[in-house]
Amino acid sequence: MDHVARAREHLASGTETGLRHAALELRMAIERIAYRFLPLYSQELTDDILKGWNWQPKRILDALVDCNPGAEQDFTIRAAFRNPNGSPGPSVFRGKQQGLPRKLLSRNYDKLGSLVHVDPRGKPLDLPKMSKFAEATASRIEVYCQETTIVANGLAPAVTFTCQCGRVFRRNMAAVRINAKVRCPADSCAAVFDLTETSTGAVAVRHHETFVCPSCQAHTKVPSGAIPLHFNCAGCGERFIVDEGIFVRHDSEPE
Ligand SMILES: [Zn+2]
Ligand SMILES: [Zn+2]
Repeated sequence: MDHVARAREHLASGTETGLRHAALELRMAIERIAYRFLPLYSQELTDDILKGWNWQPKRILDALVDCNPGAEQDFTIRAAFRNPNGSPGPSVFRGKQQGLPRKLLSRNYDKLGSLVHVDPRGKPLDLPKMSKFAEATASRIEVYCQETTIVANGLAPAVTFTCQCGRVFRRNMAAVRINAKVRCPADSCAAVFDLTETSTGAVAVRHHETFVCPSCQAHTKVPSGAIPLHFNCAGCGERFIVDEGIFVRHDSEPE
């Protein structure tokens, strides 16, 4: 039995315990909806998501839409062989993709979270109101849990690149037009590239930041990527490290 069906059974009890158990089932249903897309985006999503370090549905859904701006749209998928004269023949397959309601899923997931945790303020639960909300969520997400609902990727034009670390990654052209900066999905690499659309696809050039040396004022181009990163100043040759940390300066110093 699926999570939505189990949630409905719990809700039918009309009790607070039933509602809380239903909320847990519905949260699991939303997690499954998000996770179902992961294998389709194995060349696009970053390692933190593919390896489950970032498992929250909101984070996954945002990353999916970042990879595929069309993921939120409903559309019909039709496959057919071409007739000898070039016109499309009769459909051999036809199906509908349900657009991913990203904001609704993440909003409902968060709201259901209030039912699976104890309220630290001791606020009493509004059982009728929250039961109605849980039932509405079950109806809204049910269609995405059905095995017959199509989840698709790869239908839109895309480009594939091989990073200097050897990782092959893919980028949907619609995503490139929205955000031309793309990070290598490999967590150990994280090289950032600027993509430029061409007549045949796109070219990727490693993104660099400009570092101004505090000793000699020379400008050095530093590639964006995983930290820590060691580099030498192009002017005086002094060695620097790009790292992460807390930096303290005097209150009177300029920002
Ligand atoms: Zn890489
Ligand atoms: Zn220098």
